[in-house]
Amino acid sequence: MQSDSPVTAFKGVGPALAKKLEKLRLYRVEDVLFLLPLRYEDRTQLVKMGALAAGTRCLVSGEVLLCETVYRGRRNLLVRLADGSGQLTLRFFHFSRQQKAQFQVGRHVTCFGEARRGAGGFEMIHPEYRILRENQDAVTSDSLTAIYPATEGVQQGRLRSLTDQALRHMEEAPPAELLPAEITKKLGMPTLAEAIVYLHRPPPDADIEKMLAGKHPCQQRLAFEELLAHYLSLRNLRALAESEDAIALTAGNEDVSGFIADLPFELTNAQKRVVAEICSDLEQAHPMMRLIQGDVGSGKTVVAAIACIKAIACGVQTAIMAPTEILAEQHWRNFAVWLRPLGIEPAWLSGSQRAAARKESLAAIADGRAQVIVGTHALFQEGVEFKRLAFVVIDEQHRFGVHQRMALRDKGVSAAGHPHQLVMTATPIPRTLALAAYADLDTSVIDELPPGRQPVATIAVPETRRAEIIDRVRSACEAGHQAYWVCPLIEESEVLDYQAAEASFEMLAEALPDIRIGLVHGRMRPVEKERAMSAFKEGLIQLLVATTVIEVGVDVPRASLMIIENAERMGLSQMHQLRGRVGRGHLQSHCVLLYKPPLGHIAKERLTVLRNTNDGFVVAQRDLELRGPGELLGTRQTGLPDYRIANLVRNADLMPQVQLTAELLRSTSDHRSAAIIRRWLGDAGRYGKV
Ligand code: ADP
Ligand code: MG
Repeated sequence: MQSDSPVTAFKGVGPALAKKLEKLRLYRVEDVLFLLPLRYEDRTQLVKMGALAAGTRCLVSGEVLLCETVYRGRRNLLVRLADGSGQLTLRFFHFSRQQKAQFQVGRHVTCFGEARRGAGGFEMIHPEYRILRENQDAVTSDSLTAIYPATEGVQQGRLRSLTDQALRHMEEAPPAELLPAEITKKLGMPTLAEAIVYLHRPPPDADIEKMLAGKHPCQQRLAFEELLAHYLSLRNLRALAESEDAIALTAGNEDVSGFIADLPFELTNAQKRVVAEICSDLEQAHPMMRLIQGDVGSGKTVVAAIACIKAIACGVQTAIMAPTEILAEQHWRNFAVWLRPLGIEPAWLSGSQRAAARKESLAAIADGRAQVIVGTHALFQEGVEFKRLAFVVIDEQHRFGVHQRMALRDKGVSAAGHPHQLVMTATPIPRTLALAAYADLDTSVIDELPPGRQPVATIAVPETRRAEIIDRVRSACEAGHQAYWVCPLIEESEVLDYQAAEASFEMLAEALPDIRIGLVHGRMRPVEKERAMSAFKEGLIQLLVATTVIEVGVDVPRASLMIIENAERMGLSQMHQLRGRVGRGHLQSHCVLLYKPPLGHIAKERLTVLRNTNDGFVVAQRDLELRGPGELLGTRQTGLPDYRIANLVRNADLMPQVQLTAELLRSTSDHRSAAIIRRWLGDAGRYGKV
């Protein structure tokens, strides 16, 4: 058996079981060492029956006083044990005759289970038990008992046997220690082998509290190495980009200045700084990989457009990708307004396009007539051939994964090199998390809103005061403003009891007969959605009832009132995004968080955060603390990997050291970095090329 042998190398594991083990991500022998227990049980010492505490799981041993079957509605087997300090009753609902026969009066039994208070003293229901032989002592374990995440067809006993085998094998062939000794020494971390043994078979005096909180040095040792593996892999991706060629977009600086001078507004200092950073990147003969982080409304789109002007002047194509049709279409319109005076018509590509229009777009993209192409995921699908794609802009990057980003980039790979990439996100994330998530990117931050913006005044109101809020919508619309009314789901769901957008629409239409109301939701056909959105933009609709499809990017400066229903169920960052739909013009804007009381602790905390701040970074930090990074960045679709052991909230404080270690390993082009990546990410590496 080798560390990298398939799990079938274990005794008792055939192909069928190996298949089941895949669910636990156990493919190779070594993987078993990294399957950490969920919790631990203490079977290292016997608890006296006289000292039992209700609700604790413990090991006891005693002599059988009595064994009887009773009928209390159903058949029960009761076994009364005593150990000199007190008594305990074992209760079984399912049992065989042989089982009953084992419990002979006078025999000694050791059992493990949860002590509960019953009518006649303490009980254990269906405990694990062992009947002792004559003169045999109670069996205690040397270490705390690990409880593993089991899965269908793979029980605790099996996992214990596998970890036993893997740990035994590890004694003969310890896993290579891949962290530099200076680091483990500086951080006071145990070796990898020590950490693994400790976590699987902790000594009786181990600090279980600390282990359950994930804060034990042994857990941190493993988390550290895992974070390091991911970080190194992203840095390799970055190094790869640095070694690749790209078309140096050196021309166009006058066009850029001219364009900026002709804008109807002055760029903020933050925008100017970021524009300069991007333009300097684009002039390099290596692909740019830059992320712009900027709160909602900070003006990222125009920054992308400016970069696009430079690309046009250099005679190459630019593709702009957005995650939804509505958002992509809005960019397309904005770009058209900005570029038309220069004689450039941006092309459009989306999944819902009619065949003829699509064909036309594809032809223009392929022969180079289309210099700027705006669209959705459709941009990187098969059949899209660019003539000379050298610059790729991806908006709301948190909606796409690394893979999608790479797919669009690959469209632009040619003899002349790789395209420059600019990704933008309105979900600012705390620095430690950004380090882990975007280590392959340079980061620019637009940390300033255009002048004249007033913070959105936010209040939380119980839905019992709905009528008041409807009045408020009426007066806002009568004063010539516009409003959004956002509901979380489309169809009435019995389970979740959401307020459906359609139901709200009807309710509002009835309550506000003189107001022009529209509806957008995810189940509508794209054309219908767009019709409603543009009617709202043009002011034909005063009140837009919507699901969270409007969450990202939509820009209607005259909208100044946002009502969010079922606010108690929505995520913090999501509500911040929604709130960012208002407060985009000069009007004082308001956001009403309508909730269904009573509020739970976390929901209350979320609403408080939103009431107290408009700063996306503060919101993101609190959201991270309240929920965890997966949800913050929008699960699945994030570029963020699934970690086996590390947890970015709990282990965020390790990131600065992870970064240092990575740079240390990289600066000496240490062979260990490849081995670390292989150990944690598998041979292929998660990002294709590691
Ligand atoms: P986001 O960063 O959320 O994508 P947008 O790019 O949609 O923000 O910009 C929001 C609005 O602010 C748009 O109407 C845009 O034209 C406008 N805007 C951008 N920059 C400035 C600026 N420097 N001064 C005034 N308005 C600006
Ligand atoms: Mg935007």
